Amino acid sequence: MNQKECKYLKKLNSYIDSELKEVDFEKVRNHLKSCHLCQNELREINRINDFLFNYKEEEVNEYINQRILSTVKSLPEKRTWGLLTRRVVNFSIAASVIISFTVGIILSNNLFANNNETNIEFGQESLYSFFEGE
Ligand SMILES: [Zn+2]
Repeated sequence: MNQKECKYLKKLNSYIDSELKEVDFEKVRNHLKSCHLCQNELREINRINDFLFNYKEEEVNEYINQRILSTVKSLPEKRTWGLLTRRVVNFSIAASVIISFTVGIILSNNLFANNNETNIEFGQESLYSFFEGE
């Protein structure tokens, strides 16, 4: 077979995520033995998965991770985005959650500091004297 599109390509994400029924799973598995297009795609998805998995392991707390995954899975799937985009979107959401989480911590730290009249917003000099205890 010499083709650029394969109907099985769309199923590879579900195949990797074990979201397929056993019958479909076997179909994809058998198909993969003979389709180079799908084999390449699978390799690419696995590569991205490895990267995202490592990233999540280091940066994302498991609770947030689960919430992101369940939110993303409940969204209607847009097939036209392509196979890999779905994973990149997952990744971007994870990244922006971390960023807003971090910003939230910084902001609340600043609020707390302001309540103690340390005037952090006045710049380095005030900040310096704060640490010097003046
Ligand atoms: Zn194929």
